[in-house]
Amino acid sequence: MSNEAPKGDFIRQIVQEDRASGKRGGRVQTRFPPEPNGFLHIGHAKSICLNFGIARENQARCFLRFDDTNPATEEELFIRSIEEDVQWLGFDWGEDLRFASDYFEQIYQYAEMLIEKGLAYVCELDAEQIREARGVPGRPGTNSPWRDRPAAENLDLFRRMRAGEFPDGSRTLRAKIDMASPNFNLRDPVLYRIKRDPHPKTGTKWCIYPMYDYAHALSDAIEGTTHSICTLEFEDHRPLYDWCVEAIGAKDAPQQIEFARGEVTFMVTSKRKLKELVETKVVASWDDPRMPTIAGLRKRGVPAAALRAFWEQIGVAKNAQTIEIELFEHHVRDELDRTAPRAMVVVDPIKITIEDWPADRVEWATAPRHPNDPSMGTRKIPITREVVIDRADFMMDPPKKFFRLGPGREVRLRYGPIIKCERVVTNDAGEPVEIFCSHDPQSLDPNAEQRKVKGVVHWVSTGHAVPVEARLYDRLFTTAEPANVPEGEDWRKNINTKSLEVASGALGESSLKDARAGDRFQLERVGYFVVDSTGDKLVMNRTVGLRDSYAKAQNKEG
Ligand code: ATP
Ligand code: MG
Repeated sequence: MSNEAPKGDFIRQIVQEDRASGKRGGRVQTRFPPEPNGFLHIGHAKSICLNFGIARENQARCFLRFDDTNPATEEELFIRSIEEDVQWLGFDWGEDLRFASDYFEQIYQYAEMLIEKGLAYVCELDAEQIREARGVPGRPGTNSPWRDRPAAENLDLFRRMRAGEFPDGSRTLRAKIDMASPNFNLRDPVLYRIKRDPHPKTGTKWCIYPMYDYAHALSDAIEGTTHSICTLEFEDHRPLYDWCVEAIGAKDAPQQIEFARGEVTFMVTSKRKLKELVETKVVASWDDPRMPTIAGLRKRGVPAAALRAFWEQIGVAKNAQTIEIELFEHHVRDELDRTAPRAMVVVDPIKITIEDWPADRVEWATAPRHPNDPSMGTRKIPITREVVIDRADFMMDPPKKFFRLGPGREVRLRYGPIIKCERVVTNDAGEPVEIFCSHDPQSLDPNAEQRKVKGVVHWVSTGHAVPVEARLYDRLFTTAEPANVPEGEDWRKNINTKSLEVASGALGESSLKDARAGDRFQLERVGYFVVDSTGDKLVMNRTVGLRDSYAKAQNKEG
């Protein structure tokens, strides 16, 4: 059921019904409306998939519209990152890139119209006074003393606000709705404020800016949005949304529909907190591979298809969702298992000399790039006298169940020979520093019957190795709900101080010399990695380990 294209959710049902009944001429149009005050995160991806997905399924348009009504916090850098993220997720707004600021003049003209209709007034209370007069739940607020100004006077004052005659914060334009409404959003909300902040798009053209609720509703109406999909925190704002689109007499008014935010355990998705992580240098940048930002996930190696499949499986609902990170990682592995070629990298090398292998002998083994996808072709693996294996694959005094290398034990080098540990050189602390082995020539003979040995380890020929810096990323937080801390406690205590370990002396198989930034691999027995950059060393970021605890748990239950 859940593997199908997501047809069934309640929003898609509304869209289908509206098409069928010919509402708004049967037209469908959506939008994704980010505020450019930070990078997008994994939760935004849910909204992007939903809005662009519905448009795609209905051969309709989806606008990418920046709700840039708060110039103090908005930046060009964020605008560019958001565009990049939406495209990377696989969506295309075509011609339909807009900014709420594109509509500032229209939005302003509508405000004049509201004044003329007696639906808005210029108020001279300051922010504090407005808050006080708003009242408390269960008790009505008090009307502003400026509420019944004649329209002509309001219009004159509003024009002078625009012209810059009044200081910041000294006046507002307010909607005249109902100071006794049980819904606080309707208690004469502010529509415009005076604020002399230069705007990234309009510069110093404006010194008054529309408030989010008003600008958002009007932008939807101006664009011709049919279904204005947003998250649940806007549910209480819907009456104001409806008031706005009705007040301006919008034809085929858009319908606001709310759904639950998507949250994921071990991640924070508050922009304020993400900003704090960047500013206090807990992470290197907004796109640090540990960040739950889309740019961070991309740098971490997460495929866009995995992110889409994840949100598709979760679906869209009204009840709040915190999804286990294991399910997300499951989708990442699922996608990478199918699509990522295999390679061998030894993260923490220990040297092995195969003493009965001549120094000048090189045999080239052929290995598939993918075990189940022959179309990916093969790679050549050089077998030589000197190789390395991972330190963790050798023990001086191994227990019985340790099916890797130890003194006197045998192991197969993947795609290579069976080797036997003959002796070990240790340091003063008794730790192994070099291992000397013999090999079984039969084990390399394709025509010979093959002996089974319990252990197979990954390895790399020292002479052909590509130097690798393996960045072993881990979860950024130690607890499932990092933002959920008792009053007075600092959420930052949940930061995982070991979220990055750098293995700078890793060695990769020779075929990795052709790898390019962005290439993803399953490093056999190690994990899924993406190439971050090439150069003197191949820098590889660990996306996720190999173990799929989610799939395991599912299998147990099923
Ligand atoms: P803020 O408004 O505090 O800056 P925000 O996360 O709401 O933060 P917006 O830029 O306003 O950021 O979000 C753009 C769109 O993405 C909105 O329609 C919002 O409802 C939606 N969205 C934000 N967070 C999530 C989430 N976790 N899951 C689904 N949709 C989300
Ligand atoms: Mg928001």
